[in-house]
Amino acid sequence: SSSEEDLIALFDVRPTDAPTPPAEREAAIAAPKFGTVFTDHMARISWNSTDGWVDRRIEKYGPLLLDPATAVLHYAQEIFEGMKAYRHADGSVWTFRPEANAARFARSAHRLALPALSVDDFVGSITALVRTDVDWVPSGEEASLYLRPFMYASEAFLGVRPSLEAEYLVIASPVGPYFSGGVKPVSIWVDREYSRAGAGGTGDAKCGGNYASSLLPQVVAQQHGCEQVCFLDSGTRTFLEELGGMNVFVVKADGSVETPELSGSILEGVTRSSIIRLLTDRGHDVVERRIPLTELLAGIRDGSVTEVFACGTAAVITPIGRLAGSDFDHTIGTGEAGSLTMTIRTELTDIQTGRAADRHGWLRRL
Ligand code: PMP
Repeated sequence: SSSEEDLIALFDVRPTDAPTPPAEREAAIAAPKFGTVFTDHMARISWNSTDGWVDRRIEKYGPLLLDPATAVLHYAQEIFEGMKAYRHADGSVWTFRPEANAARFARSAHRLALPALSVDDFVGSITALVRTDVDWVPSGEEASLYLRPFMYASEAFLGVRPSLEAEYLVIASPVGPYFSGGVKPVSIWVDREYSRAGAGGTGDAKCGGNYASSLLPQVVAQQHGCEQVCFLDSGTRTFLEELGGMNVFVVKADGSVETPELSGSILEGVTRSSIIRLLTDRGHDVVERRIPLTELLAGIRDGSVTEVFACGTAAVITPIGRLAGSDFDHTIGTGEAGSLTMTIRTELTDIQTGRAADRHGWLRRL
């Protein structure tokens, strides 16, 4: 693939006339609240059905002016990604498997009838943005610059058909450790009333509508004293799918590990596939299959299931200490974070932050 220099050369950098004063920036980086503070610039590429992708640029971060008839506001033709840039001890800045996010973004675009963006434009845009706003990449333990690429239908037209215009942007937000007081297990509500996605739907695409439909079940989970919701398959409400924003793994007493197979209604996490690889390297048998909820609950009761964890870019790995539903409430193991859960978490974060060798070639320098 092309070199970083070739990719970013396509982007016209138009620096802001009002950069954040360094003291203010340092304060924002030191105590960031997730998703509230953004860097000085954003990457942007425009698309129309006649010219294709045009006007690659880095411009001042700021509000978008939308015609009230803009298609995305009515029909939710929108997709996004989530990834991070990490500062290593020597000051260099890296990201993790951006080609995997680019490939998923292309699959999401296809499903939402949005134009395909090339891997080069995807990687080039985040490289150009992070280089422009490199002073915003935090260096603290478990701190990073969260990157949010997204694309929306920008044509002002109320007809229900794929938009003839689209905008692609990347914004960036400094984030601190997900768990401020150390990694803590979460409680999960297994919802039997609502589904996140169905067969043939958009569950395996990263589109805004999936998250809109997960908000109410998430509130229900909180009403039951749980932090997050786990969805079952929409057809039979029998098999585990995933959480609102994370994939799930089950660790067995015999050392084998299971995770729900990619059913078509589950998002294929970059963290999920990386964990499968790290576990396989360690000699664990990793099985991707349909996992019945009743089997999981029986395993938790008889001790054959020892750990359950969730994974995703934001929290990397989150131990699950408790599973509750309308007619059960189970503590997993002692309710504390499991040892394999924490070992894999450390192994993955060590690779991302440069403390361990990147033996799979997952890091890309920005
Ligand atoms: N499932 C869903 C529904 C998600 O939103 C995410 C976060 N992107 C994940 C799983 C985990 O994906 P990743 O490991 O690529 O962050």
